[in-house]
Formats: sequence, structure tokens, C-alpha cells
Amino acid sequence: MTERTSAQRPRGRLLIISGPSGAGKGTLVDRLVERVPEAWVSVSATTRPPRPGEVDGVDYRFVSPEEFDRLVKAGEFLEWAEVHGNRYGTLRSDVEKKIAEGRLVVLEIDPQGAQQVRRLVDDAVCVFVVAPSFEELERRIRKRGAESDEEIAARLKTAERELALVGTYDYVVQNDDVARAADELVGIAESLLGRRS
Ligand code: 5GP
Repeated sequence: MTERTSAQRPRGRLLIISGPSGAGKGTLVDRLVERVPEAWVSVSATTRPPRPGEVDGVDYRFVSPEEFDRLVKAGEFLEWAEVHGNRYGTLRSDVEKKIAEGRLVVLEIDPQGAQQVRRLVDDAVCVFVVAPSFEELERRIRKRGAESDEEIAARLKTAERELALVGTYDYVVQNDDVARAADELVGIAESLLGRRS
């Protein structure tokens, strides 16, 4: 009988990974989950259509605008935001359940959402991921090949605005080299979990 009861289990923590689109948040989150067993990544709901290769329920829960409206009205979101014409939201019940289980809940969300969560959850830790330069950010967004020129321009404009918020975060991780940046992120997660990295 080694399993702890819920009263004994330490409460989990919330780790927010945010920053401009194209900074490489997704790759770093994948690395984090491979290396930190307590980490659990929330799957957001979105009205954005799936990109080739994206799987419903794995990358996102792809929902209609009507279903998104229903979830908003029902108070199902911990936070939600409109990003580049689509809506994205974190489902509250999943997050609460995993925190109660003692997991390190990882939210990969935009800076508007990050600010909402910080206001709600005192001990949430926010990490801002940045590309090494603005030129590199543009190159990465273009390389992904998923957006039109107009959409790319909009993403870069948003990035400029978001970069101004960098000082409000607990940590800034520069994604110049994925392995190095992942090590830094794992170190932050380990310290949050009360371990030395
Ligand atoms: P993409 O369409 O490239 O997958 O995501 C666009 C932006 O939406 C990214 O910055 C991503 O981090 C953000 N995002 C994804 N899920 C959520 C969410 O649940 N809430 C918020 N606020 N932003 C999200």
C-alpha cells in the first residue's frame, strides 16, 4: 500500500510556456514532457482548422465556433483568447483534475492567456520563450509554410507587441539551440517540483 491518498499527495503546480508564435514553444514542451515524468500538457480547444498531420484530441480539440461559444458560456475555460482570428482556450476541468493529482500542468498558450492565468493562479510560473532574433522568428514562421504572407505579417506584428511583455515573466528562455533551451526549461520545472536539476 504505497499509493498516497489525495490528502497526502502534494498539490501540483502550473507552468505556463508562452511567447510569440514561431519561437519554438511546442518543440520545447515536447522535450520537457519526455524528460519530466510529472509533466502533463493541457490540450486546448480551438476554432482553428487542423493543419496537415494534426490530430484531434492530441494537438488540439478542434471545435466549431458554436461549440466554443457554448464552452465560454458554460464557464468551462480557465482562460481563452483570440489569436490571429481564431479562438483558443484551456479547459478548466482537465487542469484542476491534474493539479489535484499532483502533476506539473504545462500550458502552452499565448501571452494574453498567460496574463489571465497569472491573475487567477498566484503560484503559476510563467516562462517566456523567445527566438534569438526577430529575423530568426520570421524565418521560422516562414519555414513552417503553414501561413500566407498576410498571416505571416500579422503574426510578426503580434510578436512585436508580445515581446514588449517580456519583463512581466518569471523566466525568459532564449531558444537559440533546442537542446540547451530544453535543459534550461527542465531546470525550471525541476526547481518548481522542489528538486535540484
Ligand atoms: P497555433 O495556431 O500556431 O497552433 O497557435 C497560435 C497561438 O495560440 C500560439 O501562440 C499558441 O501558444 C496559442 N495557444 C494555443 N492554445 C492556447 C490556449 O488554450 N489559450 C491561449 N490563450 N492561447 C493558446
